[in-house]
Order: sequence, then structure tokens, then C-alpha cells
Amino acid sequence: MFIALDDTDSTEGMCTTYLTTLILRKLRNKYPNLNTGMPNLVRLNPNIPYKTRGNGACWFHIDDNNDNNLSNEKKEKEKEMKLRKKDIKTIVLEFLKKYSLFEDENTNPACLFLDDKNFDKNFEILNKFYKKAVSQLCTIEEADETGKKINAEVYKFKNGRGIIGCLGGLGCDFADLTYELLVYRTEENFGKERKIDVESVFKMHELLYPETFDNVNEEEHKLVFMPHGKDPILCGIRGNSVDVVNKAFSMLKFREEISFMQIFRTNQHTDAHLMPKKISELKQYDAAIIEGTVIENPKRIEKGHTFFKISDGTANITCAAYGVTCLKNIAFNLVKEDKVRLCGGIESHKDTFNIEKIEIIELAKIYKKENPICPNCKIRMKSEGKDKGFQCKKCKLRLKNDTVRFIEIPRNLKQEIYEVEPGHRRHLSKQLCRYKI
Ligand SMILES: [Zn+2]
Repeated sequence: MFIALDDTDSTEGMCTTYLTTLILRKLRNKYPNLNTGMPNLVRLNPNIPYKTRGNGACWFHIDDNNDNNLSNEKKEKEKEMKLRKKDIKTIVLEFLKKYSLFEDENTNPACLFLDDKNFDKNFEILNKFYKKAVSQLCTIEEADETGKKINAEVYKFKNGRGIIGCLGGLGCDFADLTYELLVYRTEENFGKERKIDVESVFKMHELLYPETFDNVNEEEHKLVFMPHGKDPILCGIRGNSVDVVNKAFSMLKFREEISFMQIFRTNQHTDAHLMPKKISELKQYDAAIIEGTVIENPKRIEKGHTFFKISDGTANITCAAYGVTCLKNIAFNLVKEDKVRLCGGIESHKDTFNIEKIEIIELAKIYKKENPICPNCKIRMKSEGKDKGFQCKKCKLRLKNDTVRFIEIPRNLKQEIYEVEPGHRRHLSKQLCRYKI
């Protein structure tokens, strides 16, 4: 049986991964022989306005057909399995009701149960739904329809928007994947300052980067693998394998008590949300890769927010690099005629593409005008005004306008990909250090 949960947290606390882990701990405790496997954390479209925090849904699979503790007698075994299945569902729903933050307007939990047969039979439908939910806007109605089509047992609370994440999450194909080891705090520490020995994290980073990543920001000598809110997570170690996140965990020195930890398989850091699109095809809340030519030099407003316009022949769009990230400086150095490929998406401002990564495909040449040197005196001549030629201040020699020289100015950008620094990245954004994989 597959069990999926979503939208149980709020900006004020909780976390669907925590709830999932609590449920798993309860199930493992009650049914020690039940194979619960590794839970999955699937991030969906980060541009969706209704998301609580990271727009991440969780699901896990339990192998509820095999268990040595069940009776050998066929009829008896079937009865036991049925009872156990019912009990597992009851536990899941109890935990969901107990821990979800219902009072938050944006928290609309849902959970679903799907048996193995229906999962296998309908995976294509689920995968199609995932591909939409990770990169576009999905409605609750679309999700309801999909849930019915695949015969899922669905439980929705409040408006039940979480059903979108439950189905989207289950449909993830993990074409590329990473792992996150989540360390949870004890309840009495929720909301208090997080305490980890900073140097132990840097030491781990030095040894294990780039197999584990996004733990620290080297330039600012800051830890970035800890959230800041009241949620139960102390830190999350992200990496390419189970081994590396376990090893990283063993190297950390915690200065507060830990409740427990759990590793999730996840689509984080895979760029799964980015679909190549023409600018004319972009809709609000889309996550996409677009390509085009800069048609307006960048403009900067307060806080360093930088805007420029590109066109790909089908339409043009304003692109934004916000002041919190280093991409604003890359964007500011673009000029007209540069060709770029941009990863990002459209959030609340309908006509603005927010950039996650900038790839420079081609840099335009830029020149500065240089007045000629007087052949007699070897000094730079002065312009006589626009299109009026030049005169030497010393010997009064005059030269025509066409003696002006154009000198190419070296560009301070390279033909490469620029990304947001650790700590400001979106969960789904693939870091450059993962590109070789
Ligand atoms: Zn002269």
C-alpha cells in the first residue's frame, strides 16, 4: 500500500516530513516486521502561491502483503492483513488530525491510500499529473478527478488542497534524485535557537563536498542547512547518496539534544520543475527554461533588484534577479544583444520571470569610442562636437570624424552558467556541482 500526505505544515511550524517520520516510527514500533522502506519527499512547483513553505509532499510504501508474523493459514492470514491495513490507515489519519496546523488559512491537509495494484496500473496517469504539478498550476478539481481515476482512497481536510501534492508526489519518477537526512529537535526546543558546532559542519563540508552540498555558505562563513522557523527540523543534510548523508551526519557535533533522524529520497536539486518553453507559451506560475536575446539593458531599483528584457522571437518578457542573491550582479552586467538561457518561473507578478540560473550562450561585443592621437604631437585630440571631427589642442591640426577608433571592451561575464549561492536556492534547483552527474 502507498500512503501519501501533504499540506500539514504552515509558516508557523510543523513539517510534513516530521509527521511522516512520526507515523513511520509508530508503525515500525507497532509492527516490527512490517517493511516500511525509505520515505519520499517530493517538491512541487515552487511558484505556486498557496504553498505553505517548501511545497513538499511525502509518501511511503509499506509492504503489507509479506510478514512472517502473520498466520500461515490462508484465510486467517487474509483476515489479519485486512485488520492490520485498517489499523494502519487509522493511525495515519489520527496523526494527521493531531499534528496538522489546521488554524493556518493556507494549511489544507490531505492524505491518500493506494494499493499496489492500482499504483502499478495507473503510474502513467500519476506521472503525467506529477509533471504538471511540478511545473505548472494544478487545481483541486483536476486532482480529485485523477484520484477517482486511479481508485485512490482520499481524505481531505478543509479545502483539501493537499490532495494535489499527494498525487503529484506519488507520480514522481525520480529520473534524477538526491537524499536528505533530516535531523529533528526535541519538542521543548521548538522555536529556540538551533545549536550546532559550526566548525564541525565546515570540516564535514571540506571533506565531503560536492557529494553533500548546500550545508554552508563559504563566502559568508555561515551554515545554511538549518531552517530558521519554529518547525521541528534542526538541520537537513543533502547529498547524492545514502552513504554520504550518513557519513556527514556522523561528523557533526550537535549542541542540543536530538529527537531522531530520517533519510528521505527526494527530487530536490534535480531541476525537475524546469520545462523548456517559448516565451509566448509561458503562463502564470509556470516554472521553465527560456532562451532569448537581451533587448533592453538592465535596470536596477532599490535593494539591488535588477530587471532586463529578453525576446525569443515569439514574445518578450521582463526578467528579474532579486537583491538577495548574487545573480543580480550577473544580470546587471548583461547588455543588449547578449544571448541567454534562463531557469526560473513566474510568481505573483504575472509579467516577470524570476531567475534561478543564468546561462550565457553568447556575449555581445561592446566598444568604447576613442579619439585619434595627433600624428604630430602624439597627444589625444579633442572632439569638436558630434560628427564634427577632432582638433589637436597644441598644433590645431584637424582630422575628420571617421578617424575615431572603436576599442572593444572586455566583458566581465563568461560563457558559463551562473547560479544562486547556497542558502538562497530553491529546493528543486540543481546546483552546478551536480551537473556532472
Ligand atoms: Zn598636434
